[in-house]
Amino acid sequence: MDHKTETAHFSFSYPITSPHSRSSEELCEELSSTPSAGLSSEEAKQRLTTFGRNVIREKKSKSSFIILLAQFKGAFVILLFIAAVLSAWFSEWLDAIAILVVLLINALIGFLMEYKAERSMEALMRLTRANAKVIRSGKLQEIPSEKVVPGDILFAEAGDLILADARIIKLKQLQVDESALTGESVAVDKKDDTLATDVSLADRVNMLHKGTFVTKGNVTAIVTGTGMQTELGNIAALVQSATQQVTPLEKKISQFSRVILWITVALIVIIFIAGILEGNDFMKMLQTSIALAVAAIPEGLPIVTTLALAQGMLQMSRRNVIIKKLSAVETLGGTNVICTDKTGTLTQNKIEVNTIVIPEGRIEIKQNHNERSTAFINGNNGIEKLPQYELVQRIALLCNTAEISFDKNLFTEVGDPLETGLLKFVYSGGLEIAVYREKFPKIGEEPFASETKIMSTIHKYGEINFVAVKGAVEEVLDRCSRIRTGEKVIVMDQHAKDHWQKESEDLARSGLRMIAVAYKETGEIPEHLAEDLVFTGLIGLLDPPREDIYDALNECRSAGIRVIMLTGDHPETARNIGMKLKLVNSENEIVMHGREMKEMKDLTQEEKKKWLNTKIFARVTPKQKLDLVTVLQEDDSIVAMTGDGVNDAPALKKADIGIAMGQRGTQVAQDVADMILKDDSFSSIVHAIKQGRVIFENIRKFIVYLLSCNLSELIIISFSSILNLHYALFPLQILYINIVTDVLPALALGVTKGSDAIMKQQPRNMLEPIIDRKRWISIIVYSIVISACCLAAVGTAHLALHKTETWNPELCNNILFMTLIFSQLWHVFNMTTDNAVSFFRTDVFRNKYVWYASFVCLAITIGAYGIPPVAKALSLYRPDHRSFGLMIGFSLLSMIIIRSLKRIKLIL
Ligand code: ADP
Ligand code: MG
Repeated sequence: MDHKTETAHFSFSYPITSPHSRSSEELCEELSSTPSAGLSSEEAKQRLTTFGRNVIREKKSKSSFIILLAQFKGAFVILLFIAAVLSAWFSEWLDAIAILVVLLINALIGFLMEYKAERSMEALMRLTRANAKVIRSGKLQEIPSEKVVPGDILFAEAGDLILADARIIKLKQLQVDESALTGESVAVDKKDDTLATDVSLADRVNMLHKGTFVTKGNVTAIVTGTGMQTELGNIAALVQSATQQVTPLEKKISQFSRVILWITVALIVIIFIAGILEGNDFMKMLQTSIALAVAAIPEGLPIVTTLALAQGMLQMSRRNVIIKKLSAVETLGGTNVICTDKTGTLTQNKIEVNTIVIPEGRIEIKQNHNERSTAFINGNNGIEKLPQYELVQRIALLCNTAEISFDKNLFTEVGDPLETGLLKFVYSGGLEIAVYREKFPKIGEEPFASETKIMSTIHKYGEINFVAVKGAVEEVLDRCSRIRTGEKVIVMDQHAKDHWQKESEDLARSGLRMIAVAYKETGEIPEHLAEDLVFTGLIGLLDPPREDIYDALNECRSAGIRVIMLTGDHPETARNIGMKLKLVNSENEIVMHGREMKEMKDLTQEEKKKWLNTKIFARVTPKQKLDLVTVLQEDDSIVAMTGDGVNDAPALKKADIGIAMGQRGTQVAQDVADMILKDDSFSSIVHAIKQGRVIFENIRKFIVYLLSCNLSELIIISFSSILNLHYALFPLQILYINIVTDVLPALALGVTKGSDAIMKQQPRNMLEPIIDRKRWISIIVYSIVISACCLAAVGTAHLALHKTETWNPELCNNILFMTLIFSQLWHVFNMTTDNAVSFFRTDVFRNKYVWYASFVCLAITIGAYGIPPVAKALSLYRPDHRSFGLMIGFSLLSMIIIRSLKRIKLIL
């Protein structure tokens, strides 16, 4: 860490020592940057090449060579290698070479699969990288975080991740969560002081550190360290470990493969010893043992699993869902509760002002933006001409941080949709937003937070100050002491407050999102803005449900997934939307109010049960969201939870699947989430769950397929070796079946699209094994049927077709070999999940890759006859028509039997 980077054309030395002990002016000067203009893009480019990218661990992507090398390890490879050496020892040259070729082919397939998986993961990682806001050439712009360089002027606000180490220049109410770095869980207040050199990391209040995030306020700072030259980089250098994350599923499958390996070894030893005791030839028994080993080891399983998961992630990213952890795919498939927020996820978030209520009356409005006019369609017409109406508009406009501009019949909007909705209302009412903002310059602000549910701003207005407040109705009413009627301002008593509360609830019941507005004029600047206010009126906003939401919710219902709505909104508004969406069925069903929700530690069993039976939670805080996740998880639910704010981070982390919103979400929420919805839409969650189920089902499919193929080979080999039959399969033949004809169909099964039936099943129990009892039984039945058919084909050939006295070992062997290949090829079409639909409409039948794979395998197999060395290695003899008919006939028979057994539901 101590080396100084070559800084020939820069006036400063890097890394910068103790930036916290210097003033920001000094640092700006040294780093040749200014707070207002920042660096030029030219300069930034040069610094990037000199100081390197702003990334913590230059995690090199695995090179192709490393991936290739990695293929030559593991029990399977060692076994084959031993087999090759033994064959050479006994001068079985053809065998030795063939085994080596098989080893190479195996490595090549493994390499291609892993290479593809690795690259898909990288592509996904690129999608989730954060952007940094910097000032360059005098303009605020967003750049990929890795391009931040020393001297850049960084800007960050609540919800943003800090992407480099930086010395603070200017800050407003700044609080930073540094727990990732210091372990301190309370957010730290930052200040622009110059500190002593030896101040500890946790006390460097004038610095921002990479890996932390802003919880409140905003800040401008000059970057003093990037990449490994940051405090986070220091730590990372200490604990740098290159261990790759293995998902639980991959782990389970590796374990599973190992178990099968040992069972096989045990079997082989038994058969080997039995064979020798029976007086068999040592060499022959050795061959048989190798064949057995090769037959039974499911070498392809782990990598096919990884590939299926990675492929699924890539597919989801095309459908607006970014999965950040491979393991999330598995969890998604088992999700049985979705906790979703309302605004923007269930609804369109195109919030539109619909109703205005002032003491003089209520009016329903319709906006026409093109003509900048408002039609007053219902209510006490005429009140829009009163000064109180202008006051409502003024507060809506001033107490607002959003921006809109109208061009070519279209609004460009920046900011909270509720606030842009208010601006549109003001705009169509004919008010000039810019003029108002100039007339009432903003001098202070208490931002909206989902805990307080209120927002206030203070403006200069001639000699006095004008405080504008908007927020949830009960919160605003709580802070009002007066009310304005006509030109008079009178005291607001509890009776009046109750009246307005009721008025608001009436409107909420019809589905309107309600806010109240209030103001105050004062001489001084009060410490708390929202106090002693003058109540002005109510604004009712409409936020219609998303159009695709009904289908998505129906799908959840049939898929056994519970949907719980969590919102900061009023219970009545929530209930109205809930009823529209059929989340709740009657007026009487409970909507839990955040106020009624006790702290986690005080909850009784009764109350927990009540929580579990509630479908709508209104006026909840982020902390209560976290508690709800905990209660649900105690009840063994697998919970997916949405969130967007900084404060949602703990709940997102706790949930089994944390879902952040791509558009509304803060960087922090996106950072801790397992999954990001680019379109913020609920139906994308449901789609992802479906995809998760499909992927898991596919993994099961190819495991069942590979295992039943392997087991059928095992049965045949054991059978012929125990009975000492004359037509055993040769090791090379078994190898061929495993490497060539099994792998491709298995891979193809991994990308099956899945049937609609998958969303008609109950969620999978995450505790149940991948291959449960039912599936084991199926595997055993499949392999018995297949091996019986193959042996029957040989028997028939011997008895009925070639009525010779002596066995014809070559012919019998070939019939056995080919019938087995064909049976396994057809067997892939048995891997369907939906047995209710006709064969031709099943998911596997409609998977074109299964067809490609089968055709390729068929072509290779038939082609093998034409290539003499291969034909010789596989001991192939051209069959006559009748033998060929037998192979096809008996292999088809195996499929027909299996399908019939499936049909009558004897097996899965
Ligand atoms: P949700 O997003 O779950 O609907 P919020 O926490 O955003 O809930 O909002 C809760 C309540 O706070 C709303 O019902 C509304 O009354 C009020 N509110 C929402 N956004 C703002 C805002 N920008 N300014 C003032 N009040 C707001
Ligand atoms: Mg909101």
